Amino acid sequence: MLLIVLVNVGVGAWLMRVRTTSWERPVRVVVFPIPADGSAATAAHVAALSTESFEPVETFFRDEAKRHGLSLPHPIEVQLGPRVEVLPPEPPFGGSRLEIIAWSLRLRAWVWSHGDVPGPQPHVRLFVLFHDPVLRISVPHSVGLQQGLIGVVHVFASKAQTSQNHVVIAHELLHTLGATDKYEPDTNQPSYPDGYGDPDQVPRHPQKFAELMAGRVAISERDSDMPRGLDQSLLGALTAREIGWTSR
Ligand SMILES: [Zn+2]
Repeated sequence: MLLIVLVNVGVGAWLMRVRTTSWERPVRVVVFPIPADGSAATAAHVAALSTESFEPVETFFRDEAKRHGLSLPHPIEVQLGPRVEVLPPEPPFGGSRLEIIAWSLRLRAWVWSHGDVPGPQPHVRLFVLFHDPVLRISVPHSVGLQQGLIGVVHVFASKAQTSQNHVVIAHELLHTLGATDKYEPDTNQPSYPDGYGDPDQVPRHPQKFAELMAGRVAISERDSDMPRGLDQSLLGALTAREIGWTSR
């Protein structure tokens, strides 16, 4: 019985993955906002969100798709979903493989009960946890899972951070579509060449753009900056290939 359930989940996930990377139709993404703390400022920020708040993410993918020659003009649709008041299970960072598998199953069970929307179901569900910047100076790591097409994204509940929040959201969304990280895990420095906005630029530094899966702009061999937003980010050739936009 359990085996049948698992096989069905597996086949369903595989079909969904094929659908999201064939790019014949737009990939529907729903953002479920979650106030991550009890702060009134966070609650007000979340209450002010609308589908328009995420338009820069859609625009970014539209422009990048065009640049990479994708024939689908509007590859990603982002919609605001209902607010979720329950926090998702926390990932075991540095946990064993078994702990990570157990967490991913717990997360999928959690999504099953909190990730419902009226009307057609989304392909990708992004649970975006908003944190009050007055209460903490950094946010937990975000994750994007291709298995199940789920992202758990941590951002600041702040107008000033909105552009950088869009970078984090787009990065995790790309993970759900099969893109890999393109930075050095020990230094956070963009990997050359795939993590560079323009690997062929002469001189190589400073770069003008961040490759989104590197998440940073290489300003020298050793230093890099956060991009100010998606307007200073792009998808490199390898990322475009990983998500199925290009075949070479
Ligand atoms: Zn990443």
